[in-house]
Amino acid sequence: MHIEIAAAPVPEFIAGPAARPMLIDGAWTDAQSGETFETTNPATGTALASVASGGAPDVDRAVAAARRAFEDGAWTDLNPHERTMVLLRIADAIDAHAEELATLESLDGGIPITVTRGMVADAAKTFRYYAGWPTKMTGTVNPVDASVHCYTVREPVGVCAGIIPWNGPITMAAWKIAPALACGNTVILKPAEQTPLTALRLAEIITQTGLPRGVLNVVTGFGHTAGAAIAAHPGVDKVSFTGSTATGKAILQASQGNLKRVTLELGGKSPHIIMPDADIPAAARAAAAGFAMLTGQVCVAGTRILVHEAVHDEFAEELAKALAQFQVGDPFAEDTLLGPVVSAAQFERVKSYLAIGRSEGADVAIGGGEYDGPGYFVQPTVFTGVDNSMRLAREEIFGPVAALITFRDVDEAVRIANDTDYGLAAAVATSNVSTAHSLARRLRAGVVWVNTYSELDLTFPFGGFKQSGIGRELGENSLDNFTELKSVFIRL
Ligand code: NAD
Repeated sequence: MHIEIAAAPVPEFIAGPAARPMLIDGAWTDAQSGETFETTNPATGTALASVASGGAPDVDRAVAAARRAFEDGAWTDLNPHERTMVLLRIADAIDAHAEELATLESLDGGIPITVTRGMVADAAKTFRYYAGWPTKMTGTVNPVDASVHCYTVREPVGVCAGIIPWNGPITMAAWKIAPALACGNTVILKPAEQTPLTALRLAEIITQTGLPRGVLNVVTGFGHTAGAAIAAHPGVDKVSFTGSTATGKAILQASQGNLKRVTLELGGKSPHIIMPDADIPAAARAAAAGFAMLTGQVCVAGTRILVHEAVHDEFAEELAKALAQFQVGDPFAEDTLLGPVVSAAQFERVKSYLAIGRSEGADVAIGGGEYDGPGYFVQPTVFTGVDNSMRLAREEIFGPVAALITFRDVDEAVRIANDTDYGLAAAVATSNVSTAHSLARRLRAGVVWVNTYSELDLTFPFGGFKQSGIGRELGENSLDNFTELKSVFIRL
């Protein structure tokens, strides 16, 4: 199979040959080492831009800047109404640069332009949502003796670092920056080495909205250099991380030195249970989107599809029909739904799991083919005859690969669904409201969808049970993550 890639637009931001510098203390700066790295376009495998390769000395500078900005109070002590206005200006600025940001995101991560436009709109929405909070973060007056006045107040944590992955970089950047700023913190963002461009351009746009110098810093670089330096840095008060479970564990360990506040949004191997009473064509469409969207590079991807034996064949047929509608192709074609995976390494990793599935004795029921051409394209693939003990069913692949597993009754479905190290998401397709509520309670996951998949809203908490993470992001929960609660006790 072959995929034609048309010449992609080149935003001015990356048009020149110069390496993109980092944002530290309001200035655009090269890495102290002078080192740079290249980011590639995964649709073509060719170099896109070079970027400063930050390391420990650059992290030191960013932490010093963020600390000074925190302590000078220009942001932290700003009247909450004014903090709201800055966040609203950031949202407007994102909207004003929407097509450029979406283009950069599609070039860097291979995500189709029709999808990245939505992601950029959601990033603006995130800043707007958190813009509402500075004026609403109240404390309590506590009922103690009449001779005492006792109250609580929320204060910012301090210097907050966000370490983010390559799947949905602008979404992740917004999830880390917006609530941190709303709560009065200063921020250091480290984007993934595979996709640093939108974080840099977003930061440039944000600097033009009146945010004081040093309040937002972006250090680009690798995980074992810049990322590890942030995680271990005694001057960083909080790390919020999204990415793999293995890296999350490393960050948790590295951050023990100064007992950083740590929130982790990690991997998943989410079950999608198809009950025999479900609307099977609708369930198949939801399941197809649930594991294949963003070319499977989604932490909540529903990669274990548990289907009742009575409807297995009908469901598999409908799933094949639904997947046949998913156009794999050029990220800049308006009808493309699935682009390439993000990098050569990820391409090899996904292909290795296709081989692992076959060697474990599972059957390729849908897809499994390979594309020729330079980009990192993978056909959405469904294995049948999968046992939940196989690696195919236990390990996060992060590609468009699903395992179809049969069950005989609802108890077996729950047992298989919960038999995983992860607990990020789960879904149920059923027309029975009692089954829906009962399974929603029994499934061990941070989010349970019924008759839909992947729908999120900024107002609800997002995060995982078990090894899918620690803490919840979004909604009011992010305020807890980015503030310390202080009690004041005054004897009158
Ligand atoms: P990763 O988790 O290692 O990388 C995510 C971020 O962490 C990047 O910014 C990276 O530079 C940084 N990082 C890496 N090592 C670090 C360290 N020791 N200290 C501090 N920061 C560090 O992910 P990856 O290696 O790019 O991808 C590997 C696999 O992880 C994927 O195949 C996929 O299964 C999984 N993954 C999951 C998610 C998710 O959202 N659940 C996101 C990305 C990758």
